[in-house]
Amino acid sequence: MRAIGVHEDVIVLESRLWRTTCTLVRGGVGDAAEGFVIDSPVLPDELELLPAVLEQSGFPLSGLLATHADWDHLLGRLAFPRAALGVAETTAARLRAEPGAAQRELREFDERFYVSRPAPLSLGQIEPLAVPGYCGLGDSELELHPTGGHTVDGMAVWAPWLGLLVCGDYLSPFEIPTVSAGVGAYLDTLTRLEPLVAAASRIVPGHGGVINRETAQRVLAEDRAYLEALGRDSGGVALPDGRRDGEQRRLHAENVARLA
Ligand SMILES: [Zn+2]
Repeated sequence: MRAIGVHEDVIVLESRLWRTTCTLVRGGVGDAAEGFVIDSPVLPDELELLPAVLEQSGFPLSGLLATHADWDHLLGRLAFPRAALGVAETTAARLRAEPGAAQRELREFDERFYVSRPAPLSLGQIEPLAVPGYCGLGDSELELHPTGGHTVDGMAVWAPWLGLLVCGDYLSPFEIPTVSAGVGAYLDTLTRLEPLVAAASRIVPGHGGVINRETAQRVLAEDRAYLEALGRDSGGVALPDGRRDGEQRRLHAENVARLA
């Protein structure tokens, strides 16, 4: 797992698997300081390290946030079993509508790759957050913006005082858009993210580490072009530069099949 200190109040961890990101963010000072862990790394040893990373960096843990309900972003509870988990109302609704889905998919993944974990995933108490809305962090406020298209649920987390945008599974420089909830919804999300990206200095996609504004703007334009082509005629779509390997072609074929 890579850990990148991008600001004295922001550490981004990148899982060895799928380059899934986990963002630690701190706000406020002294006794009033608070810290959130947004999304999670995937592998057991990475999750086991998480409390020590926070402690060594002097980041308090006030709660967990998850950008959406896909299982690989929900594993913070394995590291912090008692922490509150805040999610968008849409994500809380999806978790209610698909009870046990995240746990089942995690179990299938672990069985497939012979991964063993010290305890099963228990999502326990979920705190639905109003999105669009705000979430206090120390003396500052995180802005929560709705996302959708990759999945039906989700939120992007914007920390304006840090120029930090944690956007969930959008704007990945390594992964093409994977559309399970509509090309139109995905394009609407890109339109909502665009002004945030323009104001951001650091963007953390769900997969692929930290990118700068220029890279995020390039990915956004490429993703928009890909999705518009996909919506018109999914047969002859060109994949974005640098995202054309076998796995990306497989993801593209899945998009085409879902839209058929
Ligand atoms: Zn993901």
